[in-house]
Amino acid sequence: MATPTAFFEGQFVPLEQANINIMTHAFNYGTAVFEGVRGNWNADQNDLYLFKIRDHVRRIRQSAKIMRMGLKYSDDEICEILTEVARRNDYREDVYLRPMVYKSSEVVGVRMHDLADDFLVFVTPFGAYLDPTQGARCATSSWRRVDDTMIPARAKVNGLYVNNAMAKTEAQLNGFDEAIMLNVDGHVSEGSGENIVMIRQGVLITPPQNDNILEGITLETALYVAEREFGLRIERRSIDRSELYIADEIFMTGTAAHVTPVTEVDRVPIGDGRPGVVSMQIQETYFKAITGQLPQYRDWLTPIYEDAKVVAS
Ligand code: PMP
Repeated sequence: MATPTAFFEGQFVPLEQANINIMTHAFNYGTAVFEGVRGNWNADQNDLYLFKIRDHVRRIRQSAKIMRMGLKYSDDEICEILTEVARRNDYREDVYLRPMVYKSSEVVGVRMHDLADDFLVFVTPFGAYLDPTQGARCATSSWRRVDDTMIPARAKVNGLYVNNAMAKTEAQLNGFDEAIMLNVDGHVSEGSGENIVMIRQGVLITPPQNDNILEGITLETALYVAEREFGLRIERRSIDRSELYIADEIFMTGTAAHVTPVTEVDRVPIGDGRPGVVSMQIQETYFKAITGQLPQYRDWLTPIYEDAKVVAS
């Protein structure tokens, strides 16, 4: 087995050596931005496919910009680092890569400026997050989504995820799989780690970008598939909590959660309480696409072991 390897302080090092000091600013104040990138394993093709890495690089750059953080690598260099971390770890299963830009100064003081920034990447094996076949049972959270005037939700800020963690824990301790957070206006924003889409009379409806959501990469993928493969119409508008109860179908999207149907909200069954037909069709195409089974979507993928196969043959 390969030694678990991370990219840390400008080098590829054994994971056990990739340690930060307890005085690190990011650890003390949550002053970091991150991404989650999936590597999806295809056993038949003997390859691991990283999904839409350029989109993730663009988003971490945007998060860093919002937080006034510097990223010392180019997009190409970050893609190369991600690919190299995946390759060196040599996993033959689904994985999750975590790039992060963080305030690396070892100093006390609440601020964003006059501090050093660094970049790291680690990877970990990662199976299903929610159950994509059974669907998720969700509850509206009593924790409201942070507003753009507090901590911008469109930036993946480490410290912001306390908001998500509170919502997730509340939902799970109350016996649900996932939380649905309302924003301060009372409109539906998103799950603790997923965007949300409801289907009403054949139209896919999802909150607009200014309802305090993360601008999801899986969301855009699912909407693209819905439009292109199934000719469905997309609407971006605010959603009321009560609309969720009467939706024909609901699904959630996320790098970790993939495309997961929602079968229940606040103990109200969605549709007939089983995963929706349209949601499952979108999910099927999405799963095929991310595992390299659909040639038309191959440009979304970065194969990790392709070069090795060429060398070996
Ligand atoms: N919202 C939140 C709060 C998230 O953490 C995530 C996961 N990154 C998403 C939505 C889904 O975004 P993506 O599909 O880009 O992973």
